Amino acid sequence: MRKILFVASEGLPYIKSGGLADVIGSLPQAINCAKYSCAVVLPLYKKIKDKYNLEKINSFNVQSGLINTVADLYYQKFNEVEYYFIANDRYFYRDGMYGYVDDGERFAFFNKAVLEMLNILPFKVDILACNDWHTGMIPILCKKEYTDEYHRNIKTTYTIHNLLFQGNFPENLLDYFNLDRKYYENGDIRFDDGISFMKAGILYADKVTTVSQSYAREILTEEYSERMDGVLRVRENDLCGIVNGIDTRMWDSKTDANLIADYSVTKLSGKKKCKKHLQEMLGLRVADDVLLVGMISRLTWQKGVSLLLEKLSAMMNQDIQLIILGTGDNYIESQFKQLEYTYPHRAVFYCGYNEALSHQVYAGIDMLLMPSLFEPCGISQLIAMRYGSLPLVREVGGLKDTVIPYNEYEHTGNGFSFRNFSGDDLLNVLKYALNVYYYRPKEWKMLMKNAMNTDVSWNCSAQQYIALFDEILG
Ligand code: ADP
Repeated sequence: MRKILFVASEGLPYIKSGGLADVIGSLPQAINCAKYSCAVVLPLYKKIKDKYNLEKINSFNVQSGLINTVADLYYQKFNEVEYYFIANDRYFYRDGMYGYVDDGERFAFFNKAVLEMLNILPFKVDILACNDWHTGMIPILCKKEYTDEYHRNIKTTYTIHNLLFQGNFPENLLDYFNLDRKYYENGDIRFDDGISFMKAGILYADKVTTVSQSYAREILTEEYSERMDGVLRVRENDLCGIVNGIDTRMWDSKTDANLIADYSVTKLSGKKKCKKHLQEMLGLRVADDVLLVGMISRLTWQKGVSLLLEKLSAMMNQDIQLIILGTGDNYIESQFKQLEYTYPHRAVFYCGYNEALSHQVYAGIDMLLMPSLFEPCGISQLIAMRYGSLPLVREVGGLKDTVIPYNEYEHTGNGFSFRNFSGDDLLNVLKYALNVYYYRPKEWKMLMKNAMNTDVSWNCSAQQYIALFDEILG
């Protein structure tokens, strides 16, 4: 049995800020098979330490430059996957996960600690599956800083969940690693006169993956590469896109404990109850026959919020209700805070992160808006489809790969989409969708069923990861 250790900065059920946590919380379990067994390692943040009763199993030293820091190792088994947590209160016992001035040092420590931890784990790791910038230095450190057989033989994958966040830090962070300076001088880890975790991960992992095929192609172009296209082209032959799935046990309208009523593709009546309950709870006019549109998202410009703000009043001139659940950029939040006053009982903004409410919104709405500027994969549209809520998306990245737009002639599709990043196009397709909702309810129902029957599980993608691991291990 070969061992894969997933390394990430967040993962369900322990902690989540976005889609990365969904992936880390469900992919390892989907890969577990006769050939491969997966484990996960995360930083032990305050929120996890305070909430979970984890077992402390060991302590070890992490040597960085001249500084010696102690890390504690905690453990818990969940859903047949072993979770390890690296603890150092100075770095991780804080209210949030990211956005601190010393993030470079914090995750440099995490990267080094993961590699040190390998020596005391009760199993031998074959592949380190690294994710996003927070783990980007691991491949180069494993290959170049460590000289022992064990580290040298380990293979690495590096998965890009979002190229926008690159982990670029001033040059002096180099002191934190015991890495030969030549890797900075020759440009391998250097980016804009600093060091880039993202660049290092891309260049030194044995294979680079990203979370959809379209995004894998897009990031080779200037428009979507966040200035990493040159670096990515170097690894083009080792780059592949594998689309994300979701945890279909956690996201299941038949068993979801957060919902007032259960429903399924063959018994949709419960969805109406969920809609009514959501409208009541959020102070919207209770009506079954109004198109209830929702958005559940980090509030950043990536998510196409500018289109929404541009067309908000035109959208609200239509016969719709709107729910926005999200938090993020202050300016965007302030814009949405006006919603309820301007459109009483027709629009609500829930400012914050709320897991339970997100389940109720996915189930209660008719349509999910996701007009992203770019979207590596997107998890929200997958959840929406599973709950029979039709996604309205921009045809970009993983949205393009997962949402099949309604074709009224062939009676196919599982959502609606538009191509250009344009407010007019968003509005037009919304009006088109409204027309289908109000005047062709049978077609709408067919689309709902198609959406619910779409395979959004990990089944197919887990096989692709397994094939990739097979290839790497020869
Ligand atoms: P990203 O990773 O870019 O944030 P994804 O669509 O891949 O976007 O994943 C977002 C995940 O975070 C989904 O599971 C979504 O339901 C969840 N989410 C986003 N915002 C909130 C929120 N305010 N409350 C609850 N869940 C949220």
